[in-house]
Amino acid sequence: MAEPTTLLILGASGDLTRRLLLPGLGSLLAVEGDRRVRVVGADRSEMGEDDWRARVREALEEAGAAPATVDALVGSTRYVRGDVLDPETLRELVGSLAAPLVVYFALPPAVTVQVCALLEHLELPEDTRLALEKPFGHDGETAAALNAQLQRVVPEERIHRVDHFLGIHSVLNLIGLRFSNRLLEPVWSNRHIERVHITYDESLALEGRAGYYDKAGALVDMIQSHLLQVLALFAMEAPRVLDAEEVRSLKAQVLRATELWGRDPVTASRRGRYTAGRVGDRDIPDYVDEEGVDPSLDTETLAQVVVEVRNSRWSGVPFILRSGKALREVDKQIEVVFQPPRLQPKGLHDTGLPDRLLLELRPGAVTFDLSMNAEGDPFELEQKHLHAELGKPRMTPYGEVLGSILDGDQLLSIRGDMAEECWRIVAPVLEAWRENRVPLEPYPAGSAGPEGWDVIPGLDGEPQSVSRHSQDHPDDSPDDS
Ligand code: NDP
Repeated sequence: MAEPTTLLILGASGDLTRRLLLPGLGSLLAVEGDRRVRVVGADRSEMGEDDWRARVREALEEAGAAPATVDALVGSTRYVRGDVLDPETLRELVGSLAAPLVVYFALPPAVTVQVCALLEHLELPEDTRLALEKPFGHDGETAAALNAQLQRVVPEERIHRVDHFLGIHSVLNLIGLRFSNRLLEPVWSNRHIERVHITYDESLALEGRAGYYDKAGALVDMIQSHLLQVLALFAMEAPRVLDAEEVRSLKAQVLRATELWGRDPVTASRRGRYTAGRVGDRDIPDYVDEEGVDPSLDTETLAQVVVEVRNSRWSGVPFILRSGKALREVDKQIEVVFQPPRLQPKGLHDTGLPDRLLLELRPGAVTFDLSMNAEGDPFELEQKHLHAELGKPRMTPYGEVLGSILDGDQLLSIRGDMAEECWRIVAPVLEAWRENRVPLEPYPAGSAGPEGWDVIPGLDGEPQSVSRHSQDHPDDSPDDS
């Protein structure tokens, strides 16, 4: 039998480990109970071995892993207390672990960089893989430097840059939806599609995460990372095989061809920040009054960037990427707006509404809004909704991503050059915002956001509406940015 893979979590007592990694591992093991994995947690926190075991047990049990699987993993896990920036502590820790090893950095980004520098000088078990979280650098230059540093530790084939959006089953469903039926594949281009909205609006506000969020903001937190990955998957050419090399190369082609709409960061971007308001039955304070917020940073809680994929398939189609917090509508979706029919018979009474395809990311669902004759006068058109719910995901996005990392499969990981491309795309926006060339627009918490964002100046020379059609969802899913 193959040796179990050791998952070393650095930062084991932190928020990511507790809220996402351990539950993700539990959901993976609930589905794949015979997976051979051993977990070692390391952190400087004073948590004892028993507390660690209890935490692991609770996460696995809550995720529904079988009792025998839970007992086996809890029985073999251990917790190492220490400062991983101390070279001797790190040497001893890594030296005590057997191959194959996955080192998961659940540490603050600056600490991760320092630990990587120390790993360069250590002998690592054979085939060691590194798993890193966002943010991957804070601009193109730092991302390139981090790439170079990581590649001095292990080759690129063993580096996993994690983006859990790639583990969301409705995002992965894009591949099946696009390429496994004859209906959509032929119309997936600028010949038939007018525009695409990729939206991730949440009703959740800051929820005590100022330490991280106030320095990142909506653009870096969501658009620079997750939403550009969704765009790449949406717009890529058809892969011949579903393997990491092919899919990631096709996605990288899309990102390399992606530019700001009109190549102007001022007209292609919008930013907003919530003020006091009410979301559902909760009173939300003004963002600047939230604990830990530094008003001088001018952090945006809502961002929109319009981009164009400048290749023959997509040029001329605006992709509107938007994400924000404390909003009334919980829109987590891709909306594909089709062009009007080329020739409609005279005498038909049009609805005036475009045909649309809505892919709800959370919870997963697919809806076609199509003009057709439905009831009454056969020449009077109306829009009908053809709706299909996607089944419950088999595991959490972190479970999917962890599974592929433990298998050494990079399909769900971001390649080094793609991380740099994503920074290249948003860099002019960040600069324009720093220079205050784009206003920071206030919106009351619980509203739909500032008005007027649905007009893209310069589209075909004239201001045009890019109206978003939102749907009501009964409840929000946890903040997973
Ligand atoms: P936390 O601060 O909650 O956890 C980090 C942990 O690392 C803390 O327990 C911290 O200990 C420990 N640590 C820091 N320095 C050392 C050291 N030198 N030696 C040993 N342990 C150390 O951060 P998060 O869990 O929130 O984030 C971890 C990473 O995951 C970050 O890169 C973040 O950007 C990323 N991420 C987080 C998400 C989240 O929802 N939390 C979502 C997506 C990505 P101490 O408390 O004593 O400082």
